[in-house]
Amino acid sequence: MTRAEISSLEYFTEEEITNTGACISDVQFLLFQKMEKLRTYLNRRIRLLHNGLTTGTHASREHRQGCACDFYLDPRDGKTDYYFVFKCAIDAGFNKIGVYWNGTAYSFHVAFSTKSSFWLATKKKRGDSWTFGALLRDPAEVLNRAI
Ligand SMILES: [Zn+2]
Repeated sequence: MTRAEISSLEYFTEEEITNTGACISDVQFLLFQKMEKLRTYLNRRIRLLHNGLTTGTHASREHRQGCACDFYLDPRDGKTDYYFVFKCAIDAGFNKIGVYWNGTAYSFHVAFSTKSSFWLATKKKRGDSWTFGALLRDPAEVLNRAI
């Protein structure tokens, strides 16, 4: 992404992006065009996580490619509705979406790639490791458990 491209963004600033640890030239402009759409659809503030762009250790290679973003919603705007975030992320053009719950708060991974994937990651408290599972559940399995 270039400085000119960043300055065309309505919601995100160069400072916010570089504060994650990322170098702006490593981040794809298309990622932030989609993040701007997501911000519009959510109609609330998005906070980028430290190491949530191209830096840090990630299982998803899209981070290194500059087309993935980890974020949370500013709690001052109200409770986070993870399902609404998921739907808005689809509408914004993301097809790799992870919903994370750390025992106290939600955070999200969004990316675009040739293949879609959706997942849920949970942990009971800070310091625990993430447990990964399917975001979409088999309704037959849900029903069997309910019986
Ligand atoms: Zn991520």
